[in-house]
Amino acid sequence: MRIANLAGRLVVVTAGLAVDVQKASAGLFSSDPQAVYSRWTEFRAWADRADLGGGIPFDPTDLGAPAPQPRQLLAIGLNYREHVAEAGFTTPQGMPPVFTKFATSLTGPVTEVALPRGGHTDWEVELVVVVGRRAYQVSEADAWSHVAGLTVGQDISERIVQMDGPAPQFSLGKSYPGFAPTGPCLVTPDEFDDPDDLELTCAVNGEEMQRGRTRQLIFPVSTLVAKLSTVLPLLPGDVIFTGTPAGVGLGRSPQRWLSAGDELVSSIEGIGELRQRFVS
Ligand code: ZN
Repeated sequence: MRIANLAGRLVVVTAGLAVDVQKASAGLFSSDPQAVYSRWTEFRAWADRADLGGGIPFDPTDLGAPAPQPRQLLAIGLNYREHVAEAGFTTPQGMPPVFTKFATSLTGPVTEVALPRGGHTDWEVELVVVVGRRAYQVSEADAWSHVAGLTVGQDISERIVQMDGPAPQFSLGKSYPGFAPTGPCLVTPDEFDDPDDLELTCAVNGEEMQRGRTRQLIFPVSTLVAKLSTVLPLLPGDVIFTGTPAGVGLGRSPQRWLSAGDELVSSIEGIGELRQRFVS
C-alpha cells in the first residue's frame, strides 16, 4: 500500500490516483496524515478490505510530508562505509551516531529551499523509515513489524554550522527551513521484493552525484530500530533518516556546494522522487 499527504489530507494512492481516506472510510479515520500512525494496525486492516475506487489524479507539488508532525525525528550519520571515508570519520562501532533534524525543517517532496547566506549547503539522499507501532527494547527479528513504511528523504546539510564548535553539532546545520524534504508517498514494506535492498540516487542539474543500495547500510533498518529502541521508545509516526551513501559535495575534490538555481532530484526505487529548487 502507498499512502500520501495530499494538501494536508491523508490519501491512499492506487494506480496513481488518490483516494481520500476520511471520505472512503465514512469518517472512521481522520483526514490528518499524522494521526493514522497511532491506529496503524487498524488502518491496514481497513485498507485491505476497503473499496478504494474513485481515486482522483493529483499534482506532486500538492503533496506534503507523509509524516508531517512526528514526535521524534531521528537521523543516523555515517551509515555507509564509503561515505564514512569521504567524510573523514572512522566507522562507528556499537551505537550508530544519532542526531535530530528539528521538525520545522520537514516538508513535502517538491519544494523551493532558501540557501543560508554564506553557507556550504550539501545534499544527502536517504531512505527514511516511519514507525507504525511503538518499539521499545525490540529485537532485530521483530523490528520490521514496527515499521509502517518507507519514503525518500533528503538530509540537506549546511556544513559550516554542522562542523562548528569544539564538537560537531550535526542537528542545527541540518535543520534550516526546508532542509528535510520527504515523500512523495509512504510505501509499506510488503510492497518491495526486498525492503533491505533498494537503490537510491541523487542528481544536481541532471548530473548524478550519488548512487547506492540500502543493502550497503552498516546498520540496516532492523538493526537501527533495535539499537535505538534499547535507549528510547520509538513512537507511532516517528521518522528515522537512515544515513547517506557516498557522493556528497563535502567529499568531492574540489568540494562542491549547492547554488541558487540548482535543482536537486533524489530518488529511491519503488518509492519515487523528491525535487528541490534552491534560491538565495
Ligand atoms: Zn544524513
